[in-house]
Amino acid sequence: MKRLSPEYLQALRNDVDLRALIADLYVPVTISARRWTFACPLCRESDTGIHPQVNLARCFRCERNFNAIDLVMAERGCTFLEAVAYLESRLAPGE
Ligand SMILES: [Zn+2]
Repeated sequence: MKRLSPEYLQALRNDVDLRALIADLYVPVTISARRWTFACPLCRESDTGIHPQVNLARCFRCERNFNAIDLVMAERGCTFLEAVAYLESRLAPGE
């Protein structure tokens, strides 16, 4: 089994396109000219946004940031390791 070093996990979080990930998780998305929002996996409201520079999704209502692993865990109700495996399968298809 692969060792999950902090560097590896950071790369995994940073390399994932959050918008593509959210679409992949079937999270409802609203796209307008000015704003791109998604249904928060915790409260289901769309008072949300993405910070592309830091690759974090944020819910302004819950006042929580979600990285890619947080999003997968919250949306799928899975464990940390399952979320990592999910992200790995997306980044390296067929491996
Ligand atoms: Zn929320």
